[in-house]
Amino acid sequence: MSAASGKKRATTKKKAARKPAAKKKAAKRKRAVRRKRVDPEWRDTVLARLADWLPHAECALDHSNPFELTAATILSAQCTDERVNMVTPALFARYPTPEELASSEQEDVEEIVRSTGFFRNKAKNLRGMAQRVVDAYDGQIPREMDDLLTLPGVARKTANVVRGVCWGLADGVVVDTHVKRISRRLGFTNKTDPVQVERDLVALLPQEAWIDYSHRIIHLGRRICDARKPLCDECFLADGCPRVDV
Ligand code: SF4
Repeated sequence: MSAASGKKRATTKKKAARKPAAKKKAAKRKRAVRRKRVDPEWRDTVLARLADWLPHAECALDHSNPFELTAATILSAQCTDERVNMVTPALFARYPTPEELASSEQEDVEEIVRSTGFFRNKAKNLRGMAQRVVDAYDGQIPREMDDLLTLPGVARKTANVVRGVCWGLADGVVVDTHVKRISRRLGFTNKTDPVQVERDLVALLPQEAWIDYSHRIIHLGRRICDARKPLCDECFLADGCPRVDV
């Protein structure tokens, strides 16, 4: 071994010795992610700090009843919640009930929801959802998962949002783009497919945390853990976060 390489190793060792305990733990968690193991202490820390940060977690989509939330969630596919919230006031003012939305013109709805993307399909789904609610459910959004899944534009994720927010019913964890990205960064999953991410989260988190976890993580993603530029220096999870993919 040359003197130079010996010196380099000694410096590396010294640096390792100086590494704060929290950073060591984070590095350990990062390795654990690869082995598909999550430190329960880290999970509990995340849940507790999220709850401290945002005690009253609310759905990021503006709504005042199950019908409006169902419509807003349909619009949120491939679109930010902020954009949806800019569009829904006009939509709900023009069509305040399923009956009115069901008897709307396709072109009129398209015009209102245009800026949310995929507007033709979304307008079709909104009108189809309203029509089915009128025809089969007496104008009321149904509570049961199987019934919700019969509404056009409503997949499991939408149904989970509506059931969780409106009635506190948790069948699973809602995995949107924020929940998927941040759950990976936190080391809670090493998957990218939302169905598999949900499976990991359902296995990891206590059922009573499923609804609030999604809401809080979505707010964390919007305010701190940005997709491109996460503000780790300002984050209350920074001391233990393995920051996978960051
Ligand atoms: S902002 Fe940084 S420290 Fe906070 S959760 Fe995201 S990756 Fe982790």
